[in-house]
Amino acid sequence: MAYHWPVHTVFCDLTLEVEDRSCRHCAQALKVCCHRRRRFFMGAGPVQLLCKLCHCPDPACAGHSQTISPEEETALVMPYWVLGWDVFCWLGHRRFARHWSVPQIRAELDDRFAIPLSVDAIERYVGRYQLMLAARQQDPRVVASAYRRSRGLILTIDGLQPEKGHETLYVVRELTQKRVWFAEALLSSTAAEVQRLLARARAWVERLGLPVRCWISDKQDAFVTGIAAEFAGVPHRYCNNHFLRDLAKPMLEADSHAKVQMRQQVRGLRAIEREVLAERVADTPDASAALLDPAATEVPASATAGDVVLDYCAAVRGILNDNHGGPLQPPGERMAEALTEVRQSLQRNLEAKKGGPRRRASSGWQSGSTPAWLRWQRTES
Ligand SMILES: [Zn+2]
Repeated sequence: MAYHWPVHTVFCDLTLEVEDRSCRHCAQALKVCCHRRRRFFMGAGPVQLLCKLCHCPDPACAGHSQTISPEEETALVMPYWVLGWDVFCWLGHRRFARHWSVPQIRAELDDRFAIPLSVDAIERYVGRYQLMLAARQQDPRVVASAYRRSRGLILTIDGLQPEKGHETLYVVRELTQKRVWFAEALLSSTAAEVQRLLARARAWVERLGLPVRCWISDKQDAFVTGIAAEFAGVPHRYCNNHFLRDLAKPMLEADSHAKVQMRQQVRGLRAIEREVLAERVADTPDASAALLDPAATEVPASATAGDVVLDYCAAVRGILNDNHGGPLQPPGERMAEALTEVRQSLQRNLEAKKGGPRRRASSGWQSGSTPAWLRWQRTES
């Protein structure tokens, strides 16, 4: 969609002409046949560009029907773009090197360059930048230069599913230079489809002329048969990450069993909460009376102690429901630590209450801010 320029926009005028003025077909001097006006943003401000287009003046020449644009035009801005290359590069760099979000880029485009652009438009430019980046990453000359000192390749293939139910993205990477060679989303992960990707990897290998030291994957069937077919004789190793995960399986099962047992021991939260809430309803003075008498609005001490009890219940429930973690941070172990901290905290409160004189109930209680409770709050937020 064409960009809508506000009427008061101040443009910097620029005129470009064709530099090579001889006809490609008959070598006659080209003549200006028409003009093209276009507007776009550069970092320094809006530009109004006038391009003088040329053609061969000889109606009999093939060059007569071909209009030639000034060579310099695409060095400033691509056809139909509203952003010049300088702003385009700035945008792509912020997105991919600095990991800025689109709304963040949008705000900064406006603040810094006074370029108001919609989210949709920015996303389109981000997509174009991504395409160019991928094309550059896969440019055979760039790849050859990256591997000029290499003596061998270690290749991996893995299927990633960014969202459940969506197609799987297959990624082929080379580990010695830490490069993603290419990625392709396959709707059906049949052996034939996977083998097509492996054949593409083989074409890359042949172009580089380097030996493949080994392949690494999770060894799903399609990978095993495909690699054996396309890379006969190349060792195919099990991926460390998957290996570790499988190795840790019995330990995670034991951890999960321990969690079930802990959950069975810590029960009755709901009953405690109901009791506190029932007490509170009984203690709360009539609302209208509170409005008439300001002194009555003071929270009863029992309600404050009740809050602490409810805090403890919420903390314990959070601990019991926390399922995050993997083999290196087993969730059951974390649960045991957190429950121990809660128990110690309760014990401290009981001891504090046994000693010292009887004060307002709340002052004898510490809040539920144990490290476990804080950690649980962090994981929830
Ligand atoms: Zn000509």
